[in-house]
Amino acid sequence: EMVSVKDLSEKIGKPAAEIIKKLFLLGILATINQEIDFDTAALVASEYDIELEHKMDKTFEEVLSDEDHEDDSKDLENRPPVVTIMGHVDHGKTSLLDVIRSTHVTDQESGGITQHIGAYMVNVHGQAITFLDTPGHEAFTAMRARGAQVTDIAILVVAADDGVMPQTIEAINHSKAAEVPIIVAINKIDKPGANPEKVMQELTEYGLVCEDWGGDTVMVPVSAHTKEGLDKLLEMVLLVAEMQELRANANRMAKGSIIEAKLDKGRGPVATVLVQNGTLKVGDTIVAGTAYGRVRAMLNDKGRRVDEAGPSVPVEVLGFSEVPEAGDVLYAVEDDKLSRQVAEERRNKQKIQQMKVMSKVSLDELFSQIAQGQVKDLNIVVKADVQGSVEAMRQSLEKLSNDEVRVRVIHGGVGAIAETDVMLASVSNAIIIGFHVRPDAKAREAAEKENVDLRLYRVIYEAIDDVEKAMKGMLEPVY
Ligand code: GDP
Repeated sequence: EMVSVKDLSEKIGKPAAEIIKKLFLLGILATINQEIDFDTAALVASEYDIELEHKMDKTFEEVLSDEDHEDDSKDLENRPPVVTIMGHVDHGKTSLLDVIRSTHVTDQESGGITQHIGAYMVNVHGQAITFLDTPGHEAFTAMRARGAQVTDIAILVVAADDGVMPQTIEAINHSKAAEVPIIVAINKIDKPGANPEKVMQELTEYGLVCEDWGGDTVMVPVSAHTKEGLDKLLEMVLLVAEMQELRANANRMAKGSIIEAKLDKGRGPVATVLVQNGTLKVGDTIVAGTAYGRVRAMLNDKGRRVDEAGPSVPVEVLGFSEVPEAGDVLYAVEDDKLSRQVAEERRNKQKIQQMKVMSKVSLDELFSQIAQGQVKDLNIVVKADVQGSVEAMRQSLEKLSNDEVRVRVIHGGVGAIAETDVMLASVSNAIIIGFHVRPDAKAREAAEKENVDLRLYRVIYEAIDDVEKAMKGMLEPVY
């Protein structure tokens, strides 16, 4: 079995130049593409304390994903739904999260102090629901951008005295892009100016039609202050969850996502893990992003030490080598060495990727991307100064769809281009078109980092013209 220096470098996560030097010291003159035999490769690897025992034609990452096999349906059991609360600022997201937590965690369960670990579980008629504690679509999409899809159901909060607002629309579009079902909580119905019917009317414009009006979106009038409607809301969550058939296999090594992570002065790296499949146990070897380690201890959302956590259960985990990032996917693995080696492989890859620009859709390259079959949908985020322009752009752009490529405006909104627009564009492989608006500093930075094509126009016709030309491969590149 032979392996090139380059492959070995990628596999063990060490620079090729270092490996070449080590080979030289062993009396072997090698170049980066040179093939060396397995024993030599193993010897070099052992100098880094890495044991080459897996087949060399697979990366450790691939070995890891092999372990991530599909479950037999007979091993699957129902698991609790994981819910994120989204909506416009001040419509009551935090109030709802607080009141649900305080009313549905029983005293003996809580044992005094509830811990804010990023997620909590409540009990509704003996059935569990997991709530993510960071409300809003920003966190939701940031997690998705890192690969974690944890939310099963989005509760969209709309204040009955305020109605549909820009962030309401964003939340709808972000949920739709993730294909997460939406339950609407029409909040603040205790207020004198509350008008739930008007909210329902406004929501129809965004494709959310309540069941009474022949649609299929569950809408529940609630008040975080008087607690009216809360039980119904939670029952509806369970109902929608039941239709989704959320299932997992508790009897396997855990897979989950990092919800939050920090460096704790006394305890070292601490991360909240939402287990999504399997059961995480104290003592398990774990890897998440470029962090690895062994579960030293786990604490639940009530601050209690636990020995294991099953599907949909959030736990604080101690024992990581470094602080993982929110959205990183966590695996527990049988093999101690595997976790460390996967982490190293990733760190190496990260370095390589930071150097080379990832291929995202761009107007300049659209034509060749279409030709190579890389692009079938041209997704666009439109931001403009007035709603009328958003609609005009949407209609004209979507009309450009042809047999090769479908043009879709996945989000349209009024106002400056924000970081969340860029994150949505990034995860949806979309371009951004701004009309009479500019990106703020954070958005510009994010667009550069995420390599999102962001274009600004002052004439609608020019925007349409550019997209049309790009689709035909006739766009003049701008230098
Ligand atoms: P968030 O920004 O969406 O998290 O909104 P908050 O939960 O912080 O609530 C914003 C304001 O609305 C606060 O002053 C809350 O007390 C108030 N509020 C939230 N829910 C209700 C409600 O059901 N009824 C009334 N009257 N006020 C509410």
